[in-house]
Amino acid sequence: MNQLRHNIATMQGYVPGFQPDDIASWIKLNTNENPYPPSPRVKEAIIAELGSEGDLLRTYPSASSQKLRETAAHLYGFDPSWIIMANGSDEVLNNLIRACAGEGEEIGYVHPSYSYYSTLAEIQGARVRTFGLGDDFRIKDFPERYEGKLFFLTTPNSPLGRAFPLSYVEELAQRCTGLLVVDEAYADFCKWNALELVKKYDNVVVTRTLSKSYALAGMRLGLAVARPEIIAALDKIRDHYNLDRLAQVACVAALQDQDYFRESCRKIVETREWFSKELLQIGYDVISSQGNFVFASSPDKNGKRVYDGLYSRKILVRLLSDPLLAHGLRISIGTREEMEKTLSAIKEIG
Ligand code: PMP
Repeated sequence: MNQLRHNIATMQGYVPGFQPDDIASWIKLNTNENPYPPSPRVKEAIIAELGSEGDLLRTYPSASSQKLRETAAHLYGFDPSWIIMANGSDEVLNNLIRACAGEGEEIGYVHPSYSYYSTLAEIQGARVRTFGLGDDFRIKDFPERYEGKLFFLTTPNSPLGRAFPLSYVEELAQRCTGLLVVDEAYADFCKWNALELVKKYDNVVVTRTLSKSYALAGMRLGLAVARPEIIAALDKIRDHYNLDRLAQVACVAALQDQDYFRESCRKIVETREWFSKELLQIGYDVISSQGNFVFASSPDKNGKRVYDGLYSRKILVRLLSDPLLAHGLRISIGTREEMEKTLSAIKEIG
């Protein structure tokens, strides 16, 4: 179709992890969802907002999501002018590229990490440069002065699970002339995060999601923390009603129930450590993870064989199509019971 822009007509598009129709009959460990429900306060808040007739749904939601910004700002120790809420962190990643990278301009990221950055850049007609990782987990050939408009650093890294030390993130902030976007989708499962760097460096942006640690992937909630000038620019280009009414009340309820949140993260981290140790004991290579998943390879380094064996037992994990990662699998951390079943299946598969 010649009505389409050339880059849109020729681009591949991002393929998210497989979502089976009969989801309840699977152990689903392929998209890093939380195995526990969100805080019970989320359901209460949604029911209250719906009321008996769903009457409020007639009316538009708050355009600014101000209450959410205030709640997040209080939690992270910032002024609300440093926060923007988004329809999943994907929305804010997209808007950062739209705000900063024009046609032909460069954005960079680490490979392997979240390949959606590349899709978002392609939509804009921006150029993409990827950087590999060395054995020391530092970025290979990263210039002393990186002049791309944006550099995306996923930490903890997905699919590998390892987090970059804060001192290294700070070094990158100093070496980037454009924005350093620290994608902290998994930071709530990690012992450290880069929020303090947002205050220290004017080019650092931290993005977060409520999809993983707050168990709200189905509500689509994310946010960014950055200088007010950057937030103001993002506010200009987002959809004005980017969060619906139910998502807004769910977000506030979830962020306010920190006891529930902490306990949910604690259980996942405990299960992650147990599962990693068990896999190591049966000869698997397991990267020490700071996320809610592990990247593990069988002794024969044949990810597809183990994937197929698990799939036939209705256990869904992530086999990454990239040849660099074909030796292993990314396995999300489910409940202890789900992980015990997964471990038994892996032992059976051999
Ligand atoms: N960043 C990373 C590294 C992710 O893995 C994901 C989820 N796949 C996202 C961002 C997007 O998360 P969401 O849009 O659900 O907030």
